Amino acid sequence: MAILVLSNPLPSAPFAAALRQASGGIPVWTEQDSPPPEAVEAILAWRMRPGILPQYPNLRVLCSTGAGAEKLLVDDLPEHVPVTRVVDPMQGVEIAQYVVATTLQFTRDLKLYAEQQARAEWKRHPVRTAVRCRVGVMGLGAVGQAIARAFLPLGYPVGGWSRTPREVPGVATFAGMDELPEFLSQADILVCALPLTDETRGLLNHHTLAQLPRGAFFVNIGRGEQVVEPDLRALLDGGYLAGAALDVFEREPPPPDNWVWSHPQVVATPHIAAQASFDTVAQQCVDALRRARDGLPQPLAVDRQRGY
Ligand code: NAP
Repeated sequence: MAILVLSNPLPSAPFAAALRQASGGIPVWTEQDSPPPEAVEAILAWRMRPGILPQYPNLRVLCSTGAGAEKLLVDDLPEHVPVTRVVDPMQGVEIAQYVVATTLQFTRDLKLYAEQQARAEWKRHPVRTAVRCRVGVMGLGAVGQAIARAFLPLGYPVGGWSRTPREVPGVATFAGMDELPEFLSQADILVCALPLTDETRGLLNHHTLAQLPRGAFFVNIGRGEQVVEPDLRALLDGGYLAGAALDVFEREPPPPDNWVWSHPQVVATPHIAAQASFDTVAQQCVDALRRARDGLPQPLAVDRQRGY
């Protein structure tokens, strides 16, 4: 019985190597090994195509290589197979670093000063006061809470929005669609740290983004499909939004002629806000398999009804 790595388009070798270290002798195969399907007990994958999972009759658990598992929730996922995701505290910290870095570049006018430097121009601008830098974090899970906590010592007021009410020390929290307008109206810096579900797909559109204060900055580290990209572009072009930092896109990578590459108000990065460590991914996959074998609950399983 074995673990199979199907991490395409991510390279399988680093995941397989880490699994071999963590698995305590459980064989680890990649797609190239063409393993006998009946021997596969666990699959580690980033995304799944329909038609694959039914080939493995003894599958006990399906593990995501990342914090999100939405690409694994295929229609032919067997009812009894739990899907787990990665929860890596360091990943939350790395994402918070990314969000703070891109936000401060905006709130401290670093791009403007870089342009001035190129002209040898000594010109001082007033520092944006904290009351004009209210941060609003969408999603208060492992990642969202790490982001919210990172902003508190910087003196920026922090709000957070989740599906169900959450309490996070120092953070003004809002929950559900009813409280979304109030949350948005107080977010000069909007950070999306939501999982992709039926409810969050397209949630950031002209209607919602236009509820932000004029001149707001938007950071997306959630999923690209949560943003209606033409609506975002229109609000940037029209001057309603001041800028955006995008780490995730509707299509990854965006085509070379996509507007995000060249828009002067956009910072675009190739889904690098954070990468869970291979060792953590491997350890959590092995733990999930052991728990499945022992019939134990799966603390990192996604709720298939909720979609995250
Ligand atoms: P998580 O622990 O499951 O937390 C998800 C949060 O989103 C929860 O607070 C949840 O509300 C909230 N939420 C879900 N659906 C909602 C809705 N319809 N309305 C309002 N709030 C909703 O997930 P996580 O570990 O924080 O990760 C979040 C996402 O970050 C991942 O799914 C992935 O898409 C993204 N991510 C990106 C990168 C990157 O490199 N760019 C890396 C890691 C993760 P409740 O608290 O009420 O459940």
